[in-house]
Amino acid sequence: MKITLVPSAVTEGQDTRGFFLSSYLVNDSIAIDAGGLGFLGDVGVQARVRHVFLTHAHMDHIASLPVFLETVFQSGDHTVTLHAEATTLEILRRDVFNDRVWPDFIGMSEKGLPFVRTSIVEPHRAVDVDGLRLLPVPVDHVIPTLGFLISRPGATVAIPSDTGPTEEFWREAARAPDLKAVFLEASFPDAMEGLARISKHLTPSMFATEARKLPSSVPFYAVHIKPRFAARVIAELTGLGMPNIRIGRPGEAYDF
Ligand SMILES: [Zn+2]
Ligand SMILES: [Zn+2]
Repeated sequence: MKITLVPSAVTEGQDTRGFFLSSYLVNDSIAIDAGGLGFLGDVGVQARVRHVFLTHAHMDHIASLPVFLETVFQSGDHTVTLHAEATTLEILRRDVFNDRVWPDFIGMSEKGLPFVRTSIVEPHRAVDVDGLRLLPVPVDHVIPTLGFLISRPGATVAIPSDTGPTEEFWREAARAPDLKAVFLEASFPDAMEGLARISKHLTPSMFATEARKLPSSVPFYAVHIKPRFAARVIAELTGLGMPNIRIGRPGEAYDF
């Protein structure tokens, strides 16, 4: 299973160790979130994506979704399936695909112009696509948010998405006998713990507390690091001295 951290900066710069937007490619045909997915410079890469799973409706996770759907649209059998909780789909319909911010692709699809197919995801109900099993599990963020445990035979990767301190997701992750990696957010430096708690995100210290909820043999890749604070956050994560903590790099692909 190949996990690619989709890059989100338009140019390389001193702060591109951080993440302006959030999305992952899983192999070639599945995306988790669409922060930067629709801004990938190779339309062929975008067109291979057939399934987009959304963790929640925050802008940094859906920013390029409208553009992505327009770019890859072809009539016929090439319809992308958007998998999300009913509440998330409702937010998209009301606030994005509302014929003001962007054309109502969801409504148009129901009337026969197949821009996108929607599929409602429910917590703890696994979805099988393209040889992988995706298990959605709720996490603790300011709006309803699902993390995903993604499995092939012999390997599971955990992508909890945006979350503050959480429990249910780790309980479920601990059940996977073959957990190979976790991609966990580390949004703000330790000095901004107040903001992290209000916005239900993590700092490096809070990241360490979450990481200790699983065996120390499981690698934790830090992602969703706010670009403005990337140097501080990375220094604090490194300073934890935990050998299983690694820094995720935008644009990098990982094999499991
Ligand atoms: Zn969020
Ligand atoms: Zn986010």
